[in-house]
Amino acid sequence: MNDHRCPHCDVSLEETTVTAEGVGDLYVETDREGGVLDRLGVGQQTPLEAFLCPECGRTQLFADLDD
Ligand SMILES: [Zn+2]
Repeated sequence: MNDHRCPHCDVSLEETTVTAEGVGDLYVETDREGGVLDRLGVGQQTPLEAFLCPECGRTQLFADLDD
């Protein structure tokens, strides 16, 4: 499902890949303190999906949340 839209251009974002030169996939890693990311689980790594705006090049990252 891809319903992400650019907040500036109001066009659909296209899924893309953000790489760190072979370092590996990008993840968000929650802190021990939890806070807003507490729902993901302490210390859990969650893969990021990158979406690129074909109009302005804005790239947004979304954590792959289950719910
Ligand atoms: Zn845009």
